[in-house]
Amino acid sequence: MLPRRRHELPPTAGLPLQLADLRPGAPTLAADVAALLGLPPLALTCSGTAALLLALATLRELQPQRRRVVVPAFTCPLVAIAVRQAGLELQLCDLAPGHHDLDPAALRAACDERTLAIVPTHLAGRVADVDAALAVANEVGAYVIEDAAQALGARRADGASVGLAGDVGFFSLAAGKGLSIYEGGLLTARDPALRERLADAAARVPRQSGWEWRRCFELLGYAVLYRPWGLRLAYGNPLRRALRRGDEIAAVGDDFPPTIPLHRVGRWRQAVGAHAAARLPAFLAHTAAQAQRRLSRLRDIPGVQVLDDPPHARSTWPFFLLLLPDQRRRDAALAQLWQSGLGVSRLFIRALPDYPYLAGVVPAADVPRARDFAARSLTVGNSPWMDEADFEAVCGVLEAVLR
Ligand SMILES: *Cc1c(COP(=O)(O)O)cnc(C)c1O
Repeated sequence: MLPRRRHELPPTAGLPLQLADLRPGAPTLAADVAALLGLPPLALTCSGTAALLLALATLRELQPQRRRVVVPAFTCPLVAIAVRQAGLELQLCDLAPGHHDLDPAALRAACDERTLAIVPTHLAGRVADVDAALAVANEVGAYVIEDAAQALGARRADGASVGLAGDVGFFSLAAGKGLSIYEGGLLTARDPALRERLADAAARVPRQSGWEWRRCFELLGYAVLYRPWGLRLAYGNPLRRALRRGDEIAAVGDDFPPTIPLHRVGRWRQAVGAHAAARLPAFLAHTAAQAQRRLSRLRDIPGVQVLDDPPHARSTWPFFLLLLPDQRRRDAALAQLWQSGLGVSRLFIRALPDYPYLAGVVPAADVPRARDFAARSLTVGNSPWMDEADFEAVCGVLEAVLR
């Protein structure tokens, strides 16, 4: 194992908060983000999962005879929890070979007149193949919900933000996902009438001050600790404790409660997010430029595949998502890097059917490519705090493992 560093790098590039962000202000977060990123009006929700839940409930009202929601077999467990909480049926679709996109043939086979929605996912800031999902959705009469939880600010080749090619798009403002108010989400739709419905659904959510107080304290803690010295306490030490007891699911925070709360986001957290959002475009540009410089170095390591975008996309780079040739070498790399404080981690530990705690939520399914993706992938952080020496140290371990 590499010697542990004094500081801890985060696994994803979150926008750090500044003291001045914590001052009160106008609750204009959703409108500010829409203006900054060229998005249509956004509804603010208490999490990305809550945004998905509201979207599913709204679409279900429009198409009550359709109950199935098709999601990638390798995605955030919260997606499965939202489908269950919406009273709908989860249907898994396996991945395309060596990629995290939905496999087009498997998607076609999974969809029929019972399908309510398909959820292509912009994982790791990469621009997903939404057009393939739209083609199948149009054929069977289903909706497309773009899960852009990890891709706020990412743009397609035509310059439009992700989240707008399908019927509905949502983003996450959770801790570590770019812009954060500790927990939050943004929801929109391409069609103004559907957007109006979603906004109404979001406005009907109860206030629940207990949850909001809790999130305010958590956001304060995040503001204080999301820096290289604080991350050791808030992220690195719990990670290492979980790995020592062999709990990889807890180590990456894949262990979620069976239901998610629904409440409104208060004025103060909106103001904090709005203050920070002003720095978001510059932050995204900075991390994207850093990623472009480092991509070729990673790609030149024989045996490393870096997940990339369709040509000309201008996406975001919260971290690099890598595939190694096999699980043995992926695990060998992680044995040296995961606990080193260098911001190397894994995305989702397993394919969705393989989380024991989701047994009642996710149907058993034969999804070999999702399992392969979980077994061979790892992530390399792209935080501005990761300097050239840190990055080289990671590349050195990858080279040694793959030699
Ligand atoms: C984080 C995440 C979500 C859920 O977002 P939250 O804001 O954490 O509720 C959904 N989908 C994907 C792919 C995610 O990474």
